[in-house]
Amino acid sequence: MKEYLKNRCPICERRMYIYQYGYRCEKCGFKMKAFICNRYISPEEAESILYNGKVILDGFSKKDGKIFSSIPTIDGITVVLDDTVCHCPVGGRIYVGSKWFRCDKRDHCRQPCFFTHAYGVRRSYDGHLLTIEEVRSLVYEKKWPKGDCPWRADAAA
Ligand SMILES: [Zn+2]
Ligand SMILES: [Zn+2]
Repeated sequence: MKEYLKNRCPICERRMYIYQYGYRCEKCGFKMKAFICNRYISPEEAESILYNGKVILDGFSKKDGKIFSSIPTIDGITVVLDDTVCHCPVGGRIYVGSKWFRCDKRDHCRQPCFFTHAYGVRRSYDGHLLTIEEVRSLVYEKKWPKGDCPWRADAAA
């Protein structure tokens, strides 16, 4: 008896079955590995990656053993890791690390990029882990979920 994910293939909308190596469409060949960079992707996480938009996952690692965070992203007929969260107003790439969001042009872009200061923007504030959507609204609408703007907090430190 095959087990299936609750939702359907993001490409062709047929059922996605669970097999030894991961999750696979019964029709078009779209598949997602259950282990990506030494991290197990549970069926619940696969569902949210494929259907609820992008999520940040921690605990990936490469051969050198270094742990990193990234964002599983649909690419063609499979899922790859892409740590890009969005782009800042001057074209820097804002990416997620294990503790910080950072801009790769932080040496060049000053304001209005929030990610130029110190290490960037912390992923966790008051026990709340910032989501991709929250970081995007911080970048594009300068909206912060709660409390002080992290940019001012970091600048004052
Ligand atoms: Zn399919
Ligand atoms: Zn920037």
